[in-house]
Amino acid sequence: MDIKYEIRRSKKRKKLTINIERDRRIVVLAPENTSDEKIRQVIDSKKQWIHEKLGHPQKFAAKPHAPGKEIINGESLYYLGHQYQVELIESTNDELVFDNKFLFPMQEKEKNLVLLKKWYVRCAKEKIIPRARKFAKDLGVEAESIKIVDNKYRWGSCTTKNNINISWRLMQAPMFVIDYIIIHELAHLIEANHTPEFWNIVKAQLPKMEKAKLWLKENGQRVQEEL
Ligand SMILES: [Zn+2]
Repeated sequence: MDIKYEIRRSKKRKKLTINIERDRRIVVLAPENTSDEKIRQVIDSKKQWIHEKLGHPQKFAAKPHAPGKEIINGESLYYLGHQYQVELIESTNDELVFDNKFLFPMQEKEKNLVLLKKWYVRCAKEKIIPRARKFAKDLGVEAESIKIVDNKYRWGSCTTKNNINISWRLMQAPMFVIDYIIIHELAHLIEANHTPEFWNIVKAQLPKMEKAKLWLKENGQRVQEEL
């Protein structure tokens, strides 16, 4: 059987990934310079796996979203680990209101996507930065700066100059996962590598560390790629 698939190339991607979407479309996410031929070979070598995945539609039904959000009625968005419905409303101002639902003005989808990102960034600044300051104090470390950034494939990073960067996309995750990323990056100010000592520092601050890692393993990629 011939497998139909869509290719999305991106400069930012380092590895080729095959995604089976909720509607069972196959999307290949590939680094910019991957040839069609190479992709076809990978698809061929993964045929078995793809067919198995396609044979279990219920598996996908549990996953609420296909990558690539569209701001339309019936869609839902994550905030702090919970899903909230999207509703388009008649509105005179160009504003997103969050009230147990994401209420968007009726306008172009792209404009609403911009509003949404701005909203997440604002929430991230309000919630993540004070928490990061508090955890830094608890850990006895001093971060040069704590910034909210637009990273798609990294939740957080710690630079050699002791700057902590956290992706606004993390606002989609539950609070204990947000805390985990903050503490993880701050702990790098004490221990640069992932040594047993490093993990002890993180775990001492966050007893739910393993649960947070598991959440990221199960949801991380999807959450990162959707927006
Ligand atoms: Zn690390």
